[in-house]
Amino acid sequence: MPLQKQQYQVHGLIGQFCDAGRELIYRRYIQESVKLEFSLAVSVAACVFGMFAISDFYLLGLTSEFYLLLTMRIVVVSVCLLVAFAVRRWGGNEYRPWLYALPLWVFATGIILIVPLRPESLPTQMTAVVVATMAFYLLIPNLLTVVTAASLYLNIGFLVAAVLYAELAPVATLLVALLLLMGNVVGFFSLLRLESLQRKQYALLHEERDQNHQLHKEIAHRKSLEEQLRIVAERDELTSLNNRGHFMKLAHELLQRSQSEKVPFSLFMIDVDHFKSINDTWGHSHGDWVLTKIAEACAESLRPTDVIGRFGGEEFVVALPNTSPSEAQMVAERLKMKVAELPLNEEMSKLSPSITIGVAATNTDAVDLESLITRADQMLYVGKRGGRNQVVVCRDARSDSR
Ligand code: GH3
Ligand code: MG
Ligand code: MG
Repeated sequence: MPLQKQQYQVHGLIGQFCDAGRELIYRRYIQESVKLEFSLAVSVAACVFGMFAISDFYLLGLTSEFYLLLTMRIVVVSVCLLVAFAVRRWGGNEYRPWLYALPLWVFATGIILIVPLRPESLPTQMTAVVVATMAFYLLIPNLLTVVTAASLYLNIGFLVAAVLYAELAPVATLLVALLLLMGNVVGFFSLLRLESLQRKQYALLHEERDQNHQLHKEIAHRKSLEEQLRIVAERDELTSLNNRGHFMKLAHELLQRSQSEKVPFSLFMIDVDHFKSINDTWGHSHGDWVLTKIAEACAESLRPTDVIGRFGGEEFVVALPNTSPSEAQMVAERLKMKVAELPLNEEMSKLSPSITIGVAATNTDAVDLESLITRADQMLYVGKRGGRNQVVVCRDARSDSR
């Protein structure tokens, strides 16, 4: 049986969860309603029990038995009302069976004590015992064991008192015993069924909640997987910059917006100088590390509106919306300086990395991204031929490409 089902298994005889921890959690869950229902039932029963003093008076008059009965009723009513109050106040902090059992035992004792004081009204008392037994089972919620013990005490005590003080004949005793037994059996199984059903309903509710919780976790997991997939699809694995495909998509959008707003747009093509020799001198993994550092330095030197991507190998590309050629040149110079000042580890301290940047700019809508890239690439090679470690700017892609 799965662990969850095992936790929610209900005991067939006491109507409680077999798992003690689960039962405690359930009791905490229902404690507010149990407190309310219990104290209400006990208060009403106490008042009804007290009102029977009127019938005592008609039956006994102002005799010593009447006063004894009256005292007993006052004690029972007071104890019950006090306990009802105590349950409302403290009954919920922690499950206290004795607090719930106390008024039932006091009631039972009160009813039993009526027999020696008013033996002639035994039939009426028998009815009262049956009614009290049913009331114990039906009106006291979720306390099957407490109720059963109190009810057996009431029934057995009453029978013994009836035999001793009302001289009940053996056959009549047997009949009364059978009647009381029936009352107990019916009451017990009604409450057992009720308690089991309530717990099964609670278990179903929780199973549903757990499943919902699982579902939410699953959805969150899927979302994070989707996010990871998106990152993998859009990012370059080594440098975490935009990969070429994603850069092209973003740069297209930026160029279109700049053209529709009639503002200048610039583009950098960046290439690391003599990168092959870095690889050859320090090895490919050191080369990777330098490439990552250069990518970081470039990304940090840009403005939030600029977009950078790894174009391939040791080449990077940057889209700068709303940027004139002179502004682009300033940004490119800053970027070049940042790379030159890169703090490298001791092993590579002799290395001073440099980059060459080709810049293409446009302020017309007759130029597309591909021709801007081609132009920037051409400027890059002008820079390479011119000795590297420099920025070469082409003022207008359209005019230059003619
Ligand atoms: P130039 O100044 O003319 O650009 O010289 P260069 O050595 O940088 O250019 P070249 O195209 O001859 O070599 C580029 C080198 O970059 C060759 C290639 O092995 C290396 N490279 C490309 N991608 C990576 C990479 O992801 N990691 C490492 N470590 N090296 C790479
Ligand atoms: Mg290259
Ligand atoms: Mg290079």
